[in-house]
Amino acid sequence: MDCLFCRIIAGEIPCTKVYEDDAVFAFRDINPQAPVHVLILPKKHMANILECDGETMKALLSAIQTIAKQEGVSEDGFRIVSNCGRNGAQSVNHLHIHLMGGRQLADSMA
Ligand code: AMP
Repeated sequence: MDCLFCRIIAGEIPCTKVYEDDAVFAFRDINPQAPVHVLILPKKHMANILECDGETMKALLSAIQTIAKQEGVSEDGFRIVSNCGRNGAQSVNHLHIHLMGGRQLADSMA
């Protein structure tokens, strides 16, 4: 299986890493939509949120909380998004959560 994000986690493709633990890896989006735009993903390959288990979601939640504080957006607020499938406009089929902040975000989400 040739997965872009698996290759980033393996160090085969460079990224700007912001966080790593046993289960989770996070790096800056290459095309940021906000001053802070981090992708947070499980190290274990799963296509999207439909394949995610509770243990992995718990690890992702903990990472989101840590990264939000680390990136300095926990006080002013931020947005998390996980695109799923074709209509969700998911372009990389390895579950990832976008964390965006650092400015006032648009009211619209779609
Ligand atoms: P999505 O469209 O929700 O699947 O999000 C995929 C995200 O991955 C997009 O925001 C891309 O900008 C980002 N992306 C694609 N390739 C890379 C890469 N090599 N390094 C960092 N981010 C990437």
